[in-house]
Amino acid sequence: MIVKALKGFKDILPDEANLWQDVERVARQIFHRFGYREIRVPILEKTGLFARSIGETTDIVEKEMYSFTDRNGDSLTMRPEGTAPVLRAFIEHNLQAERPVQKLYTMGPMFRHERPQKGRLRQFHQMSVEAIGADQPEIDAEIMAMASMVISELGLDVSLEINSLGCPKCRPAFNQALLDFLAENAGSLCPDCERRRYKNPLRVLDCKNKTCQARYVNAPSIQAHLCPECAAHFQAVESYLKALDIRYKVNPFMVRGLDYYTRTTFELLTNALGAQSAVGAGGRYDGLIEQLGGPALPGIGFAMGLERLTLLLAAQQRKSSQRIDIFIAALGGAALERGVLLAHALRQRGVAVVMDYAGRSLKSQMKQAARHDSRFTLIIGENELAGGQAVMRDMESHEQVDVILSEDLATWSTALAKKILA
Ligand code: ATP
Ligand code: MG
Repeated sequence: MIVKALKGFKDILPDEANLWQDVERVARQIFHRFGYREIRVPILEKTGLFARSIGETTDIVEKEMYSFTDRNGDSLTMRPEGTAPVLRAFIEHNLQAERPVQKLYTMGPMFRHERPQKGRLRQFHQMSVEAIGADQPEIDAEIMAMASMVISELGLDVSLEINSLGCPKCRPAFNQALLDFLAENAGSLCPDCERRRYKNPLRVLDCKNKTCQARYVNAPSIQAHLCPECAAHFQAVESYLKALDIRYKVNPFMVRGLDYYTRTTFELLTNALGAQSAVGAGGRYDGLIEQLGGPALPGIGFAMGLERLTLLLAAQQRKSSQRIDIFIAALGGAALERGVLLAHALRQRGVAVVMDYAGRSLKSQMKQAARHDSRFTLIIGENELAGGQAVMRDMESHEQVDVILSEDLATWSTALAKKILA
């Protein structure tokens, strides 16, 4: 029997991986433009890190984490998101001493035991950014501007929805209003919401159940319960978004699936992926660093899902190929030996070269050159080689020229590399 990959775990094959590299490249460039630097953190962490940050009564912690006891008896978890590990590293390495605002980004796999669907996997990949140490509305607007820039430079179109979740000062009044509303609707909510009602009422608004969703249209709005400071902060964020010409919509029912958010939250949505509508999401988490045992610093961040971004690009027939510069088609033993030397010399000079060592026919080799999307093919035949020549074919114009194979390999390959890379 053939061993297959686990359900919800997907191989990213070379053609698709090219598209991933494009997305990662664009994102890295834009993160750099905004002053973010990369941090790489482990995939495994102590389970407590996520329970304390994401929240005990969230879907992620209650039923989605890949947790296990290792050989030492420690409970470990494969990270379901990137913020907690990055903050853990920030605190552990005292990064607040290095600069007043730390802007960090990371990329890599995350793990959640969800029901796999298109755009929803158990191992999925995020690009996530965190700005730690700033509570000004300018940074909220900046981070959303950065997320939008990644989307627009990828040539995608998504909509931005924003909300404010208030702070520990205004949350209790809203919670009470929500509790009252839920009490009025008791008996008509799904079992999950009935449970959440007592444990973590805000969570109900995140329920995916259609009947619940229809009920919550009439739920109290957090926007109406913001304290003056949170309201002013949100207003400032909105006016910056307008000034920066970033289109958005206020969605007062967006609560996000993690407990640590405060004030600004946002989602980047598309209707091109069925039920999986969010390509990115994030928000402010002002109390979280202290809650994790670090300094009392504010923070804001977001994460984008690579599966969903690349699905959107693929839906636009966007193809990315890693074309090679030249395919060397050698015909015969002497030509092969010569080809090996030429290929190596060209590669040392920055040229991407592929060749076939199996002595296949010219037709087969030309086919391979096309598969590699090669720009040129250098055909070395026995007779031509004897005359110190080869044929170079431009694969686009189909133009063919004779090239002299000089004995001076270094000079020859330097000149050819220059021509190919021009
Ligand atoms: P959703 O509402 O789709 O479940 P989420 O609110 O759980 O998303 P976040 O935890 O905020 O998502 O993660 C940010 C981004 O990561 C999402 O917008 C999405 O693009 C991506 N993402 C989250 N979970 C998955 C998954 N299981 N498979 C693929 N991508 C995911
Ligand atoms: Mg989710």
